[in-house]
Amino acid sequence: MWETVIGLEVHARLLTRTKIFCGCSTAFGAAPNTQVCPVCLGYPGALPVLNRQAVELAIRMALATGCEVHPRSVFARKNYFYPDLPKGYQISQFDKPLATHGALQGVRILRIHMEEDAGKLVHESDVSLVDLNRAGVPLIEIVSEPDITSSEQASAYLTRLRQILMYAEVCDGNMEEGSLRCDANVSVRRTGEPLGTRCEIKNLNSFRFLRSAIDYEVRRQIEVLESGGAIQQQTRLFDPVAGETRVMRSKEEAHDYRYFPDPDLFTLAVDDAWVGDVRASLPALPEARIERYQREHGMSVVDAEVIVATRAVADFYEAAAEASGNARAAGNWVRNEVLRVLNEQKIGIDDYRVTPQMLARLIRLLDSGAIGGKAAKEVFEEMSTTGDEAERIVERKGLAQVSDPTVIREAALRVLQNNAASVEQFHAGSEKVFGFLVGQLMKEMRGKAKAELANEILRELLTKSTAHS
Ligand code: ADP
Ligand code: MG
Ligand code: ZN
Repeated sequence: MWETVIGLEVHARLLTRTKIFCGCSTAFGAAPNTQVCPVCLGYPGALPVLNRQAVELAIRMALATGCEVHPRSVFARKNYFYPDLPKGYQISQFDKPLATHGALQGVRILRIHMEEDAGKLVHESDVSLVDLNRAGVPLIEIVSEPDITSSEQASAYLTRLRQILMYAEVCDGNMEEGSLRCDANVSVRRTGEPLGTRCEIKNLNSFRFLRSAIDYEVRRQIEVLESGGAIQQQTRLFDPVAGETRVMRSKEEAHDYRYFPDPDLFTLAVDDAWVGDVRASLPALPEARIERYQREHGMSVVDAEVIVATRAVADFYEAAAEASGNARAAGNWVRNEVLRVLNEQKIGIDDYRVTPQMLARLIRLLDSGAIGGKAAKEVFEEMSTTGDEAERIVERKGLAQVSDPTVIREAALRVLQNNAASVEQFHAGSEKVFGFLVGQLMKEMRGKAKAELANEILRELLTKSTAHS
């Protein structure tokens, strides 16, 4: 039996307005080389100055994943040549990272360190161009222990990591724009044996690619080993078109980065007070919310996962639950109806016309018996397209429900009078005909009678009429 062993290295772009060591903008999508200065262009003598907000965001993520934040960490120079790296080295934390020893979904986090991004090469038909807007954009790298045992687990871990990054407003999580990139280290071993040799698959920028790349790589390694070969430690690239991983470089070609502490930068000192402030500013995170929804609201874990997937939806749900006093109903509406409408309208919840308070008022109308279930659905659809208040829609469309027993009784008596034959059949023991009579009563009341009450009154009248006959 083969076992799969995976460790993930995730790069997340921090949501700062300016770069990690200079004041240049980090905005995505600007014209090439318009957001650069002597520092991020690597001009000799230009001095880097650490961005405090970047450190703060890195600490946020460290705390959100249960890491220990170290009071002293060190920025080092990672030396290599590449045209997108103007200084000839990348500033990164190496042997003294900001944080270590976290955990997420049962996967241990080895370390979280800060570093700067490199520029970007743009390959055209006969030239390669370099855009240095991205050079010096702040990143954190989140490195897991090799605790992941399948592509599904890798995907679930990355999903949660991305959620937390977005909840904590550390990173926008946009994989298409490269705000979140993942390298997967993969090896296989026979059950009970020590860890096998790993290959690292670089730059996976979607969940689907992550899963396919791992699945392909596991099959490839097992095939090599079963046919008597050995795995060479390599860096590989995933080709999404062919669905395969290919060698990029082998261990022998691996760089010797000659790391050394950057003499232009001080040791980064983070005191307890700062860590405490950052901790206090963290929002409730997905796992805590899932646990609370289950415990306090009786929600299933499956529904809770759906609702916490984005923080805005979870916040919407919580506000609607609070305002309506009916968390269960709020959960069902959000899970089944709100998310469907957002999907249909192709909008995010921030652009949704219905506010949590509006949904709460609809829930209260339903709970108080002012409208019935069918009418509530109709009101909801109308709210979702027009943005009108539930009460206004109920009034405009005449959807209010009648729950006055006197009115229902009068209508019921008329129905019994007009359906003497059915009444007789009922008395002869046909329960089936009761349903028909209820239908007639609802029709008589143009569908607006409160259903339970209509049932109750009708049965009462029918039994009475037996007693009299
Ligand atoms: P490098 O800098 O060479 O990438 P690191 O130690 O920083 O090395 O990170 C290695 C990554 O590979 C970590 O995520 C770790 O969990 C993972 N890893 C280490 N050994 C194995 C292995 N045998 N199989 C799969 N993943 C591994
Ligand atoms: Mg690596
Ligand atoms: Zn700059």
